[in-house]
Amino acid sequence: MKEAMLYEHIGRQTVRCRLCPHGCLIPEGRTGFCGVRKNLGGTLYALTYGKVASIAIDPIEKKPLYHFYPGTPILSLGTFGCNLRCKHCQNWEISHHDASENGEGLSELTPEQTIALAKKRGCDAIAWTYNEPSIWFEFILESARLAREAGLLTVMVTAGMINPPALKALLNHIDAYRLDVKGFTEAFYERLTGSPVLANVLENGIIAHEAGAHVEIVTNVIPNWNDSDEQLDGLSRWIVEHLGGDTPWHVTAYHPSNRVREPPTPASTLERAARIGRSNGLSYVYVGNIPGHRGQNTLCPSCEALLVDRVGFGIGENHILGGKCEFCGFAITSYRGPDLPYRHHTTPFPQYVL
Ligand SMILES: [Zn+2]
Repeated sequence: MKEAMLYEHIGRQTVRCRLCPHGCLIPEGRTGFCGVRKNLGGTLYALTYGKVASIAIDPIEKKPLYHFYPGTPILSLGTFGCNLRCKHCQNWEISHHDASENGEGLSELTPEQTIALAKKRGCDAIAWTYNEPSIWFEFILESARLAREAGLLTVMVTAGMINPPALKALLNHIDAYRLDVKGFTEAFYERLTGSPVLANVLENGIIAHEAGAHVEIVTNVIPNWNDSDEQLDGLSRWIVEHLGGDTPWHVTAYHPSNRVREPPTPASTLERAARIGRSNGLSYVYVGNIPGHRGQNTLCPSCEALLVDRVGFGIGENHILGGKCEFCGFAITSYRGPDLPYRHHTTPFPQYVL
């Protein structure tokens, strides 16, 4: 088992984990709130190091990342455990796997094997996703460093609940930080996730942006929970002010789950969110989780030409060349991708399960 980083001894056999804002005080034999960091004999262990619960090759659009190497197949992996308890969680089974099993029965991969697998399968990028990667800290830190050395792009898909020093260590090796900002009040965060951690999440978005990572924001809009004009207005203003008006903001439809009993988000709500975001200065607001919706395409903010057309999780065409609109030359400043035309992907992109 791998000893955890970022903890301290409190008394004889108790430790305090310093990875995330919970700051769990963990007695001998117990795990923290996340369920994956366990104190055994006064030493904190990272139970999920190298344990993989889910692995697949996804199109990068599925993360979703829309301004980061469109059409790229990305090796995506996750483990179990989470440091939030979102009532609408779609991945409850892997996020809240019984930690008493200590990851038994899961596949094991070393960081070196992960990189070799990505290369073997023709992936140019790796994403840590599916469950919350912040609490897979030690494994991602090492894997991302090796991935960069091997010339791969690195992506975290995260709810952003982690202490800033830990995040900064990860960001030394992370290219894209896909961050959930679930709403814009602490009361909403507490109601949905069980933890009033909005301030921490926002701070981490700024840290990632200032570290030079590519940042895209996702907000799952739930009727009667976070769909008010006030929440959408506040959040979109915050993005413009702190991350820039060129930051992609994905407003996605919620689908009913076991513990949140609202109807699915209507397209009109997401269209309203997109209007609010644009009126506040966001150039790229995307409507997500509504198959075929036009709001998932990229339009040039200057000449309004269709730049990237998305079908399912694939892309049809891409008219961003050298970071500019091919038609009018407008710079798409938040776009990162190859300088060459990148138009030859199958649509829809097939999902390969490894
Ligand atoms: Zn244009």
